Amino acid sequence: MTDFQGQRAVVTGATRGIGKAIASALLRRGVTVIGTYGSDGKAAQRFLEESGEVSDRLFLHQCDVSSYGEVEALYGKIEERFETIDILVNNAGIRRDGVLAMMPEEDWRRVVDVNLTGGFIMSKFGVRLMLKQRYGRIIFITSPMAHMGFAGQSNYAASKAGQIGMMKALSRETAKRNITVNCVSPGFIETGLLDDLPEALVREYRNMVPLRRFGKPEEVAEAVLFLAGRKAAYVTGAVLEVTGGI
Ligand code: NAP
Repeated sequence: MTDFQGQRAVVTGATRGIGKAIASALLRRGVTVIGTYGSDGKAAQRFLEESGEVSDRLFLHQCDVSSYGEVEALYGKIEERFETIDILVNNAGIRRDGVLAMMPEEDWRRVVDVNLTGGFIMSKFGVRLMLKQRYGRIIFITSPMAHMGFAGQSNYAASKAGQIGMMKALSRETAKRNITVNCVSPGFIETGLLDDLPEALVREYRNMVPLRRFGKPEEVAEAVLFLAGRKAAYVTGAVLEVTGGI
C-alpha cells in the first residue's frame, strides 16, 4: 500500500517527456492515471505497451487542452467512469520560439492557448470534481523562463509566468476545501522539447547550470509526487524549482 493507493490522477501531455515520467511514477504507486496527448497517437500506443501490467490503470485520450469543448467532453467521460479525481497535473506545453518583433500572431496565440489557457480549462473542470469531495492536488509545470525570459521566448515566458499567477489565485480560492495548488518549475530537462536546439546553445545552457548537467524527467516527477501526496497538505501557492541550481 502507498500513500496514493486507489487515487485517480489526470496528467496532461502524459505520453512523452516529463508528463510520461509523472504518469509512470503515479502508476507505480497504485494511482489510476487518465492521461491526455495532443496528436502523437503512436507515442500514446507505445506508452500503453511499455506500461505492462499497470496498463489496466492507464487511460489515454487525445484531447487538445486548449479546446474548451474537448476538455469538457473528456471530463464528462471521467466523471461517468471515475466520479472524481484526486490529482491534476497541468503538464502539456509547447514552444514556438522567435524574437517578438518577428513573431507571427499565430505563434503567440498557440503557445498561450496551450500552456496557459489549457491550464485554465483543465483546472476549471478538474477543481469542480475536487470541490465535491473536499480534497485535491493541482500541480502546474511552469518554467524558470517565467522570471528569466530568454530572448526568443516572449510567448513561452509569458505563458509560464501566467501559470504562476493563476496557480497563486486558485490556491487561495480552494484552500478552504483542502485543495492545494502549486507549481513545479523544471530547468533544462532532457526531453523532445529541447530537440530543436543547436548544439552550441545546448552547451551554453549546460554551462549555466551549477550542477553541470540537464535534469531527467524522472527527477521532475519526484517533485510532483511530493506535492501530489497527502503529506504535502500544508504546501500551497508554492513554486518548487527542480533546476540544478539555475
Ligand atoms: P514534450 O516532450 O514536448 O511533451 C509534451 C507533451 O504535451 C506531449 O505528450 C504532447 O502530446 C503534449 N501536448 C502538446 N500539445 C498539447 C495539446 N494542445 N493538448 C494536449 N497535449 C499536448 O515536452 P516536455 O519537455 O516533457 O515538457 C512538459 C512540460 O514541462 C511543458 O509544460 C514544458 O513547458 C515544461 N518544461 C519543460 C522543460 C524542459 O527542459 N523539457 C523545462 C521547463 C518546463 P503530443 O506528442 O501528442 O503532441
